[in-house]
Amino acid sequence: MPLRYLKVSPLSQRKVPSLLPVASDMDFNIGESMVYFDFDNTITTFDVLDGIIEQFSINRDWVAYENAWRAGHIGSKECLEGQLRSIRGTRKTLREYLSTISLDIHFKRLLALLRSKGINPIIVSDSFSFFIEYILRINGVKGLKVYANRIRFYGDRLIPSFPYTNSLCSHCAHCKTNNLSDDNGDREKKIIYIGDGLSDVCPAQHAHLVFAKSTLLDHFSKTQRHCLPFKDLGDVYNYFKEYGNDSGTEALQRTVKVSGK
Ligand SMILES: [Mg+2]
Ligand SMILES: [Zn+2]
Repeated sequence: MPLRYLKVSPLSQRKVPSLLPVASDMDFNIGESMVYFDFDNTITTFDVLDGIIEQFSINRDWVAYENAWRAGHIGSKECLEGQLRSIRGTRKTLREYLSTISLDIHFKRLLALLRSKGINPIIVSDSFSFFIEYILRINGVKGLKVYANRIRFYGDRLIPSFPYTNSLCSHCAHCKTNNLSDDNGDREKKIIYIGDGLSDVCPAQHAHLVFAKSTLLDHFSKTQRHCLPFKDLGDVYNYFKEYGNDSGTEALQRTVKVSGK
């Protein structure tokens, strides 16, 4: 999470603008931006990975890992490796559970709106692609690129792997920040980030415009940075519908510098 861990990540070699309105940095059309979504509790209405851990663990060992992670004592890779050791589930039983998960009811119309503006958003998640891709599929969402951690099944054990770690970042399992840059071949494109949690703090600090709720919003509140608070994706939809053709400067003038609590 702390930026000092990210000193030589590709994005931080670029000029990273603050979220305060700076006209020269913010002269962009938000209709021509890259849009990144977190998945759990952003596109879904709760944290699916937490739900799986609670539902499929054979003991309560996951709680200690969760607490250590929240306290910042361990990174999310160590946390997830520890938590997955207690899970017993097969592809079949997990899919049965995943079949019950629905998306934020506004996600599909938001996706259609973004696509109508030529934006195909990208999902960056610190969960696992098996879960995310299945949930998207059963909800009829196609064609979205997903960057997430991986699992393979060994009997009823889930073995994680982490293709997107960043050796310079001790906080993230999937360091989403690196994938913001990988897909942003056109350096003129600005980054819009939508998320809710601790794993979003790292990438959100590199975004030009941030929609935040829950823990991510709390973090922006503590650090007194600008963002757009949202309750559900209906708020994000309304924003793009109303202001989707604004320049970045105008967009940022509508952000809220959330006050510290
Ligand atoms: Mg999340
Ligand atoms: Zn990171």
